[in-house]
Amino acid sequence: MTKLALAFDLGGTELRGALVERGGAVAARVSAPTMAGAGSEAVIGQIIALAGTLLAEHPQAKVAGIGMCAPGPLDPKAGIVIGPPTLAGWHDVPLIDILNRQFGLPVRLENDANAAALGEWRFGAGRGSGSLVFVTVSTGIGGGVVADGHIYHGRRGLAAEIGHMTITGEGDRCFCGAVGCFEAVASGTALGRRATRLTAPGDGSLLRRLSGGGDVSARHVVEAARAGDVSALELVDAEAKWLGIGFTNLLHLYSPDLIVMGGGLANGFDLLAPGIRTTVGQRAMPAYRDVPIVPAELGDRAGLIGAASLILWEGEPGAPLAIAQDEDNGASKRAAAREASHG
Ligand SMILES: [Zn+2]
Repeated sequence: MTKLALAFDLGGTELRGALVERGGAVAARVSAPTMAGAGSEAVIGQIIALAGTLLAEHPQAKVAGIGMCAPGPLDPKAGIVIGPPTLAGWHDVPLIDILNRQFGLPVRLENDANAAALGEWRFGAGRGSGSLVFVTVSTGIGGGVVADGHIYHGRRGLAAEIGHMTITGEGDRCFCGAVGCFEAVASGTALGRRATRLTAPGDGSLLRRLSGGGDVSARHVVEAARAGDVSALELVDAEAKWLGIGFTNLLHLYSPDLIVMGGGLANGFDLLAPGIRTTVGQRAMPAYRDVPIVPAELGDRAGLIGAASLILWEGEPGAPLAIAQDEDNGASKRAAAREASHG
């Protein structure tokens, strides 16, 4: 059997585990609702239990190590989860040390957005590229940057907090306390809030009928826009413009080969793309305007697969998938690829 990694994606609502092959295939998956309010010891107990389940079901698996992703802020080098707002009772938890002692295997840690960026880069929409920006647009906005073949970490691994770049001087206050953050105006939450304000319970609008009279969500806006609803289409246009402004900043800052958009709102990517493209065309300098902006391919597996690659691809850039699948003379090909990328 080929070498596998145990991978975990620790989210505020769901804890996912998987056995992942070197080529990015998920051999087995498990999940449980995260005991997010119960503190770090309880959640680490859940991780250990899920690992036990996976290993018991696949006793023949040759596990090379554990790749883990969790919400930031965290320090990937030191292996410490610093204190995510979505997990109660996590303060400077040395997760790598704890799991390493428990399993006697190498453990790697990355923040969830960076892990998803790695997954999309090595196995998804960005494979074969040298540089990409991954943007996840859902409840909030997060991101990861692959620059010249490496995840860009910055000081203490805190780089690419793109949801909190300021893109306007007005609008609702962001949870971080500032006004005009990308996330505060362009997240799925912001889109749902605009739709809720535009309508009223019982007004007969399609948006309120879809939401059952309650608050309208981004998902309802996309659904109504697909049905041709005029106000939903206007909301989508406004959303695409905000995304286009943020993406233009990312193009100017990082000059990626492509931008990959994931997260819940990527379900409406086909509706948003023309407006995003128009805004980029109006605002980006000419040299940046032809950069592809594409939807993510791995869905909710991106973080798990990226985390696994921290173990299975350690020290290697994002070589094209074909190289990863060639086990026979993969090493020499990879060496050649490294040579080419450095040449
Ligand atoms: Zn903010």
